[in-house]
Amino acid sequence: MDGSIKKILSKYPFLEYNKDNKSFFGYIYLDEDDKYNLLIDISNFPNNFPKVIELDERIPRKADRHINKDNSLCFTTPINEEILLKTKISNLELFFQHILIPFLANNSFFEINDKYKFGEYSHIPIISLYETYRDILNIDSFVLIANVLKNVASGKKFRPNELCYCGSGKKIKKCNNHEQGYREIKKLSSERLFLDSKKILELRKELLNYHKKEKAPNRVE
Ligand SMILES: [Zn+2]
Ligand SMILES: [Zn+2]
Repeated sequence: MDGSIKKILSKYPFLEYNKDNKSFFGYIYLDEDDKYNLLIDISNFPNNFPKVIELDERIPRKADRHINKDNSLCFTTPINEEILLKTKISNLELFFQHILIPFLANNSFFEINDKYKFGEYSHIPIISLYETYRDILNIDSFVLIANVLKNVASGKKFRPNELCYCGSGKKIKKCNNHEQGYREIKKLSSERLFLDSKKILELRKELLNYHKKEKAPNRVE
């Protein structure tokens, strides 16, 4: 048996593994009386996160509770998933530890407090696309984000002593963790970066039109 599967089974003793459909099934306990009945399909791992279905419908099957249309759990945005799989989540145990368990814990928190502990991304794909890049790059401006994506997609490299992409006039190595943001972005494919840069400008245009119509004072940069 694959080593990481064995480790999962010993760490989560109420799970079993079915090798014919490459899935774990059974309970994960966060606490004595806080348990989740799960089906965890790992057949596409590590290309994608495992597909996880919560079988007891303890989590209402709704988008605003981060359940996808196919009933699987919505862990994060596709961009973050791709970056995480190329960085922090290099094996199955790390997926359980840093993605699955925190998702479940966050749901348990929501049940008691009616809000998520760690914040959340919008479930509307185009909005969460913008939010994801905003958080990775740590800049708000649609235009700036789109430019960074386009430049990195065309092969632009930011060396530590170069001026930062945010326009602060500082060297990137000394600017608000912006070097880290650049390092994450450059792990994404050029195709994705090009496409997303266009999507972000389209979203900006839509928001500008919307604000014009509504005469809303919000500024969209
Ligand atoms: Zn979601
Ligand atoms: Zn900066």
